[in-house]
Amino acid sequence: MQNEYDDNNIFWKIINGEIPCNKVYEDDEVLCFHDINPKAPVHVLLVPKEKYVSFDDFVKKSGMEKVYKFFRTAAEIAQNLDLKSYRIVANCGSEAGQVVFHYHLHIMGYLK
Ligand code: AMP
Repeated sequence: MQNEYDDNNIFWKIINGEIPCNKVYEDDEVLCFHDINPKAPVHVLLVPKEKYVSFDDFVKKSGMEKVYKFFRTAAEIAQNLDLKSYRIVANCGSEAGQVVFHYHLHIMGYLK
């Protein structure tokens, strides 16, 4: 599994404003934007603004409060999108489908 954080990944560039995104939500700790290639009627990505390679890296390096807040924010975003139902996915490692090595959560939703 990749452990070294590479600053050249696309999500770090989005966080730093070098590449645009279709923003859904932002605060001091996270950014949420629409996936460029949606795999559900509503498909957004939630990323922390700190450098974590993967779900594994995020959980290992973050305290309880930070992990809890991240997931609570994901739930609030899903509620605000007013979805009928949704799926949460984190691909961890390339064999599991992770392509961008900055930790992110997929929120894949279905409309009412
Ligand atoms: P993963 O396969 O879990 O690493 O997910 C990476 C996701 O990032 C894919 O669903 C891509 O469609 C999405 N993606 C790649 N580039 C961009 C971009 N510039 N803006 C928004 N989403 C992107």
